[in-house]
Amino acid sequence: MTSQLYPWQQDAWLQLQALRPRMPHAILFHGAQGIGKADFIEHFAQALLCENVRPDGHACGACASCGWFSQGNHPDYRRVRPEALEDEIADEGEGEGEGAKKSAKSKTPSKDIKIEQIRNLADFMNISTHRQGLRVVVLYPAEALNTPASNALLKTLEEPPPGTVFLLASNSLDRLLPTILSRCRKFSLPMPSHEQALAWLKGQGLNDADSWLREQGGAPLAALAQSESGGREETEQLLQVLANPGVEAALKAADKLQKAPLAPLVASLQRWLYDLFSIKLSGTVRYYPRHRRELEALAGRINVSKLMAAIKAANERRAIAEHPLSPKLFLEDMLLDYASNCQ
Ligand SMILES: [Zn+2]
Repeated sequence: MTSQLYPWQQDAWLQLQALRPRMPHAILFHGAQGIGKADFIEHFAQALLCENVRPDGHACGACASCGWFSQGNHPDYRRVRPEALEDEIADEGEGEGEGAKKSAKSKTPSKDIKIEQIRNLADFMNISTHRQGLRVVVLYPAEALNTPASNALLKTLEEPPPGTVFLLASNSLDRLLPTILSRCRKFSLPMPSHEQALAWLKGQGLNDADSWLREQGGAPLAALAQSESGGREETEQLLQVLANPGVEAALKAADKLQKAPLAPLVASLQRWLYDLFSIKLSGTVRYYPRHRRELEALAGRINVSKLMAAIKAANERRAIAEHPLSPKLFLEDMLLDYASNCQ
């Protein structure tokens, strides 16, 4: 079985094939979150390892290498992600020392890529490849590398082991060390057009695809993930209090929403403020067209400096939303702050 590219990735795939005769040892794929970068680089990794690659550059899906790849145990392939993204931690056989067991049991899986994960690659890169072919490391999202891990990876990129290709993906290049950037060939992956994304989402059987898609700024995988996470009701509750700011509404909403994941709520607030700003300056709405009327009413009475203050505060909260001391206090503070700026 070979995974499929998304329809909006076909041109990028063709461009990528042009690199293959002289493969860079590290390629950094970048683009908006939720457009399918991880699937794209895993697809490419399989093709690089395939023993009978097709003329169009895709993996054959039938050779021994493809077989191992799709079962997730190719000996010349490693995937490095934050623990929080590893849904199959328990199944990954290697490195299961005491430490690995402990971390699997610890309460919150890490959202960082840690230095141990980079160090573990050293052994992998020091032995000869099983198939006398390439060795491929996929790593994403690169901005999850914490500082020690970044530095360790940098050392590897500075002295690349022969026959090894690093495929990295990042949602935001400005969060990467410039030294890492300078060691990688950059490759941009496109955002689909609204029509392409909408057609794809409808093909996935998503109802109300247009609203989900707009809310995620046009990123189809983000829209699908958001719809599946069941966060719609919570988002709606939040939007209600944003549309009608007030102290009492803020406290009530904070109580109701305290069990919900905070980062998506802060992201919704950021999008809402973006819309408010945009409607005030140019009359356009990007994320929440179905709330245009409320946005217009708010935009009519808020002044720009207060709006800027609210945007700044939301950006700062985004940074700490993963580790709040108390979710309820965090939300109260966030919504009261919003109400005082936007009432
Ligand atoms: Zn193959």
